[in-house]
Amino acid sequence: PVVTRFAPSPTGYLHIGGARTALFNWLYARGRGGKFLLRIEDTDRARSTPQATEAILQGLTWLGLDWDGDPISQFARAERHAEVARQMLDAGTAYPCYTTADEIAAWREANPNQVFQSPWRDADPATRPDAPYAIRLRAPLEGVTVIRDAVQGDVTFRNDQLDDMVLLRSDGTPTYMHAVVVDDHDMGVTHIIRGDDHLTNAARQAQVYAANGWALPVFAHIPLIHGTDGKKLSKRHGAVGLHEFAAMGYPAAAMRNYLARLGWSHGDDELFDDAKAQAWFDLDGIGKAPARLDFKKLEHVSSHHIAAMSDDALMAEIKAFLTATGQPPLDATQRSRLVPALGALKQKARTLPQLLEQAHFALIGRPVQPDEKAAGSLDPVSVGILSELTAALQHAKWNRDELEAVAQRIAAAHGLGLGKIAAPLRAALAGRSSTPSVFDMMLALGREESLARLADVAA
Ligand code: GLU
Repeated sequence: PVVTRFAPSPTGYLHIGGARTALFNWLYARGRGGKFLLRIEDTDRARSTPQATEAILQGLTWLGLDWDGDPISQFARAERHAEVARQMLDAGTAYPCYTTADEIAAWREANPNQVFQSPWRDADPATRPDAPYAIRLRAPLEGVTVIRDAVQGDVTFRNDQLDDMVLLRSDGTPTYMHAVVVDDHDMGVTHIIRGDDHLTNAARQAQVYAANGWALPVFAHIPLIHGTDGKKLSKRHGAVGLHEFAAMGYPAAAMRNYLARLGWSHGDDELFDDAKAQAWFDLDGIGKAPARLDFKKLEHVSSHHIAAMSDDALMAEIKAFLTATGQPPLDATQRSRLVPALGALKQKARTLPQLLEQAHFALIGRPVQPDEKAAGSLDPVSVGILSELTAALQHAKWNRDELEAVAQRIAAAHGLGLGKIAAPLRAALAGRSSTPSVFDMMLALGREESLARLADVAA
C-alpha cells in the first residue's frame, strides 16, 4: 500500500511551494487508496513555534487536504532516533566519534574543501576515552550512491564526497537527517515527494537506509516553483503564502486544480476536479523544468471552478473566504437571498470577492443606500415610473416572464425601452449601477423585499 507524507518545518506560514508538495503527496496517496501522513519537523527548537504548526494545519485544511491519523511530532520521537543510532553503533554500521567541535573546525581550516574524516572511524576500541561522543554513520568510502529519482532520473553521488554524517550528537540529540530516515521508515513511507532542494539529502539518507538494511522509498524530487520571470519564487513576485491566495478569494477547489498543474501535467488537460486529479496524478507527469506561477492562468482556472461549482460547494467556499479574511459569516437572510442568485453570479466571477461584489444587493438590508452614480439615476421622472411599476407588480406572479412583461409594459407606456428603466431599478434594488440583471435580483430578493425597496425610493 502507498504511504506518502508531508513533512513541513513549523517556522512560518504555509508557502505555496509547500502547499503544492502536500497536494502532490495527497493526490498520489488518495488516487491509490493509500495513506497521506503529516509529520511536523519541529526538531529545531529555536525556530519552531506552535503558531506556525497551527498556521500550516489551517492552510492544509483550507486547501481541503485531509491527512490520516494525528500529525506526528518529530521532536517527540527523539528517544526513538537515539535508540536506532545506538543499535547502529552495536551493529558496527556506526561508530563513536570523540572529536570536539573545535578540533573539527581546526581540521577544516587545515584541509580546506576536503571531506572530514574522523580519526575514530578505525581507531582501536581500547583507545576510546571515557568522554561524551557523537555517533557517526560508517559510510562507504568508495563507489557511488545512486538515487533513482522518479523525476530527476538516476542521480549519482561519489561516496568519497560524502562524510560520515553525525546521527546522534554528543549531547544525545538526533540530527535532522537521521531523524527523517527513522521517521519515514517507522511511518512506513513508500514514496517521498518533495522539493528538489532535498536531493543531496537523499544521498545521505539512502546511506542510512542501507546501513539499517531498510527498503528505500521511491524518491520524487520536484523542481521548485518560479515566478513569471523564471527566477525562484520570492516575496518580490507577490503572494507566496497560501493564506494570501485564500484572502484574494481563489476557491480552494481552484487552487487544488491550479497547483496540481504547477509542475505536473496530464496531456492537455487544464481544468479538472479532485476525482480526475486523483485518478490521473502520477510521478511520470511531473516535469523536470521549474513551473512558473502565473496569475492569469490561476484566474482562468478559478473562474471555471466558480462557474462549475454546485451552490452548496460555492456557499462553503464563500464561508471559508469570509473566515480567512476575518469577515463575519453571512446571516440566514443574506444566505437565503444569495443562493437563488448564484446561478447568474457564478458565470461572471473570477474570484469570490468579485462574486460578493456583484452579490451586494443580496447582502444589504433596507433602506438601501444608493452610491453617487446610482443616486443620479433616481430623478423625479424615473421615480415616478418606479412608483407605477411598484403598483403594477403588487399582484404580479413572481416569475421571470411576468416580471419582464410588467416592466416592459410600464416602460412602453412611457415610450421607453426596458434598458431605460433598468438604471433606476438597479439603484432602488441594489444602490448600485453595476449589478446582476434586475429580474435576477427581484427573483432572489422575493416579492416582499423587492417591493419594499421600490417603495422606499418612491416614498
Ligand atoms: N522539513 C523539510 C522542509 O520543510 C522537508 C523534509 C522532507 O520532506 O524530507 O523543507
